[in-house]
Amino acid sequence: MSAQLKPLVWQPTMEYASNYEKVPFKVYTQRDLDRIEPLVRLSDEQRFEMKVVSTVLPFRVNQYMIDELIDWRNIPADPIFQLTFPQRGMLKPEHFDRVATLIRDGAGKVELDAAVNEIRLELNPHPADQMEMNMPRDEAGNRLDGIQHKYRETVLFFPSQGQTCHSYCTFCFRWAQFVGDKDLRIASSEAESLHAYLQAHPEVTDLLVTGGDPMVMKAKHLAGYLEPLLRPEFDHIQTIRIGTKALTFWPHRFLGADDADDLIRLLERLVEAGKQVAVMAHYNHWKELDTEAAQAAIRRVRGTGAVIRAQGPLIAHINDDPAVWARMWKLQVKLGIVPYYMFVERDTGARHYFEVPLVRAWQIYREAMQQVSGLARTARGPSMSASPGKVEIQGVTEVAGEKVLALRFIQGRNPDWVQRPFFAKYDEQASWLNHLVPAFGEERWFWQDEYDAIRNEKVSVAKN
Ligand code: SF4
Repeated sequence: MSAQLKPLVWQPTMEYASNYEKVPFKVYTQRDLDRIEPLVRLSDEQRFEMKVVSTVLPFRVNQYMIDELIDWRNIPADPIFQLTFPQRGMLKPEHFDRVATLIRDGAGKVELDAAVNEIRLELNPHPADQMEMNMPRDEAGNRLDGIQHKYRETVLFFPSQGQTCHSYCTFCFRWAQFVGDKDLRIASSEAESLHAYLQAHPEVTDLLVTGGDPMVMKAKHLAGYLEPLLRPEFDHIQTIRIGTKALTFWPHRFLGADDADDLIRLLERLVEAGKQVAVMAHYNHWKELDTEAAQAAIRRVRGTGAVIRAQGPLIAHINDDPAVWARMWKLQVKLGIVPYYMFVERDTGARHYFEVPLVRAWQIYREAMQQVSGLARTARGPSMSASPGKVEIQGVTEVAGEKVLALRFIQGRNPDWVQRPFFAKYDEQASWLNHLVPAFGEERWFWQDEYDAIRNEKVSVAKN
């Protein structure tokens, strides 16, 4: 080896948590609605509406969001207020009236809980067949809780200590995990079962640790899952992705928090050992990137050698505007973040309030793309994480005189479907894959028979 070609040694970041202010984490849930000071400017009726909605759907917000991100002169329209605080329209009128009446009449806990549970089950708590189709089984046929394996290369892991977030998004597609119903949770605390599963599956290259938000965990717990992956038997795991909204909801987690240094060192060790570490940051609005703490946290995470990739859904009342996306993508690139995905809001929870029709979603995507330079054009979308796979809306066009939506699989249950264009009849109202029908008078999608067979098999195994 020549003198100049020394082995590459990762330089640890020289910043320490002690350089940052230690900000206490203060959180509010439904019980504390009356203690959130800025809400006094709302009417009693508005506060009651929040109470009704948050009886059914999870609510959690922290002081940082209240103080630094919400513009209280602009409520209820403020996008971050819409992102975190319950809105009346999130419940269908019949559901809202049922719960409001029970609360007004002073119904007992048992009666109220029963009504709430019935409503929750009507809100499609597990979209895209997660429970039946993505949960792998061990050799004895037992379901491996906390693991999802939908696409060949990628395993999702839900550590049980990470099944909450520093705040909750009103539109959360994983809301069912936060409402305290054990049957609705997907979680595991068993590092061994994760490691055994990964060891038995050499085709897996990517591990996505997700939640909730794994960054709510103590660094030592996260390390318990991730550090063993540095052993040679896990060489096939090239990429560790960590899904998080902590860079928005609680950037102090990476700055002055007690174990912030441990977390930063953990990321550094993984990078140094040759793993690709991707922090999959959930962003919905440029405002989330626009505080001092948010930008300091981004710098500190990037200093570890991890790459931050940004993704998030397109949501009515929050970011259904090309200018918001263009400004967000530009700011992400400026801060060294890679724009990755624009998602379509999933068919669960308060979707009727937040959904944006697919044609409109594509128009927003296109107009936003037209305003940014090449480095921000890395965002794919709008994309639906549907049961057959991730389906991107590529555009509206005309083929043989018929107006159609052009679609493609970005990921598919069968890898052979990936990148094959297919066409749906033009429909301005459709907001999810199951609202679309094939174009050109065809009766079935090209993937339909194969998907039905896969589904039948998985569902019958799940039932047994
Ligand atoms: S960060 Fe993700 S999991 Fe957490 S509340 Fe928001 S959408 Fe749900």
